[in-house]
Amino acid sequence: MNAYQPRTDDMQFLLSRVLNAPAQLQALPAFAEVDAELMQQVLGEAGKFVGDVIAPLNRDGDEVGAQWKDGVVTMPPGFKDAYQSFWQSGWPALAASAEDGGQGLPSVLEAMLYEMLSAANHGWTMAPGLLHGAYECIKHHGSDELKAQYLEKVATGEWLATMCLTEPHAGSDLGLARTKAVPMPDGRYAVSGTKIFISGGEHDLSDNIVHLVLARLPDAPPGPKGLSLFLVPKFYPDGSRSRVHCDRIEEKMGLHGSPTCVMRFDEAVSSIVGEPGKGLNAMFVMMNAARLHVALQGIGLLDAAWQKADAYAQERRQMRAPGKGKSAGEADLIAEHPAMRRILDTQRAWVDAGRVLAYRTALELDQIKHSPNADTQAAAQRWCALVTPVMKSVFTHQAFHGGSDCLQVLGGHGYVREWGIEQIVRDARVAMIYEGTNEIQAIDLLVRKVLADGGAGMNALLDTLTADLPQAAKASKAHTPAQARIQTLRAVTQQIVQAAPKDAALAYRVADDYLRAVALVLMDWAWLRIQAGVDADTPNAQARWLAPAKALRSWVLPEFQMRSFIIVQQCMAAA
Ligand SMILES: Cc1cc2nc3c(=O)[nH]c(=O)nc-3n(C[C@H](O)[C@H](O)[C@H](O)COP(=O)(O)OP(=O)(O)OC[C@H]3O[C@@H](n4cnc5c(N)ncnc54)[C@H](O)[C@@H]3O)c2cc1C
Repeated sequence: MNAYQPRTDDMQFLLSRVLNAPAQLQALPAFAEVDAELMQQVLGEAGKFVGDVIAPLNRDGDEVGAQWKDGVVTMPPGFKDAYQSFWQSGWPALAASAEDGGQGLPSVLEAMLYEMLSAANHGWTMAPGLLHGAYECIKHHGSDELKAQYLEKVATGEWLATMCLTEPHAGSDLGLARTKAVPMPDGRYAVSGTKIFISGGEHDLSDNIVHLVLARLPDAPPGPKGLSLFLVPKFYPDGSRSRVHCDRIEEKMGLHGSPTCVMRFDEAVSSIVGEPGKGLNAMFVMMNAARLHVALQGIGLLDAAWQKADAYAQERRQMRAPGKGKSAGEADLIAEHPAMRRILDTQRAWVDAGRVLAYRTALELDQIKHSPNADTQAAAQRWCALVTPVMKSVFTHQAFHGGSDCLQVLGGHGYVREWGIEQIVRDARVAMIYEGTNEIQAIDLLVRKVLADGGAGMNALLDTLTADLPQAAKASKAHTPAQARIQTLRAVTQQIVQAAPKDAALAYRVADDYLRAVALVLMDWAWLRIQAGVDADTPNAQARWLAPAKALRSWVLPEFQMRSFIIVQQCMAAA
């Protein structure tokens, strides 16, 4: 079995040539020193660490898994040492501010690190995956006292963090959460209740675990507005143990290296984070960061599956490929059979489009944080708000379905454990569910964001994409297919805006079709940018990028017509 190997040259090409990231970042005073060379160095080191230390632990993570005994969770072999070396080398602190103990580097480098980590070992990566969101949450909403006690430990990753939202009866609808927080005379709160499915709720990777918990004050109104956010550590700063217990870990389809915990809070003494009743607001900082990370999990896992399928298809021979003659006893590579070539090139098209979109989103996050220009910040906010749910949904969907297609390339050898691709498919499935299911992402996009402003934000995003199309795509004939698709999406958006008031369920029925249509427009844009970057490059590079570009146009983008057709039919039926 070959372990995943980060291919940082491809990633670097997308970052520098396609997205022109170094120049953009250097224009921000915070990153004046961050040039292409520094970024390449960081990526190279990250790739080495991921390939040498994290990837080799993936199989044991799956086969041994996290183990629970009497409330104590032991992580799979090698996980703890790898985590200690990870945080001590400064990787979790990459994008945290220098004043909090971080390295102050751009978010995009952190995004690329997490893509590689997820590809190498999804289970292990779940543990640090929530750190940056927790750091931002405490930084922006915590009191000075909380910051003094926890911010640096979380920024550096010395202490790991969890996000405790889900309860047995409250999943997508967090407004149903019942965990209680009762004020104590000293200004703190006693939190009681049960949270389920808590990733990394208990483990032996770090000396302490910082739980961020949604709970309800006694006089709080029902629903989401009654939720406040609380911080409960496993150990308080004086070393005493809190009344937080891990009652069980779940048996799961995959992701065995990540303990999914049932956590009991038994009058656990906690501090409030932010204002009473504003818990979801505070938590959204964390959830948005986590959604981008989950999209990156999808992209990374699909790349890992693709690497295995490609390696196998370059070795295995079966039957003659069309046009290769008919000599008895000879057989061609699996990679030469058109049906398999189609799978391989198509999945590569998804991976690279995903990278361009995810890296661009991370660059926009840097603009939000550091740009001195209000218009730039507003455009960046819009990009992140609209593109993040799209990426979370489509790239996690593709990791599972496209990963399964990659498994198909190995035939029966993919279904058995030897090549490790069946683990990727099992592990990937959950990403379509957590961090807001993919159905919830679609509703977030269409109902909460697009319909909420009558389509204005989406039209502005489409203006940005149009302005950002490479010259070659803009200059040709009356309409390039990309421009035509953008026009269709504008028209479809308008139709839903007009039809939605006539049928309360319409937007909810077509939300997924709409999200997919937006995703396809974004992917088209991403690949036009890639091709523009390749045009000026070497002939070898053209061979690397041309086949997925063709696959995108042949096998992926036609879905846009189908999705628009479905939406238009539904809008007409509502009229
Ligand atoms: C391995 C794993 C790790 C997790 N880690 C964490 C964690 O660290 N912290 C945490 O708090 N939670 C965590 N979760 C929980 C996860 O976020 C929830 O499972 C998820 O939000 C969905 O909730 P649910 O499972 O209760 O499904 P439900 O909300 O009951 O939904 C069931 C189905 O109905 C659909 N549905 C629900 N409402 C709607 C609607 N309005 N419109 C359309 N469809 C709808 C859903 O999309 C889903 O398909 C984890 C879950 C798993 C499996």
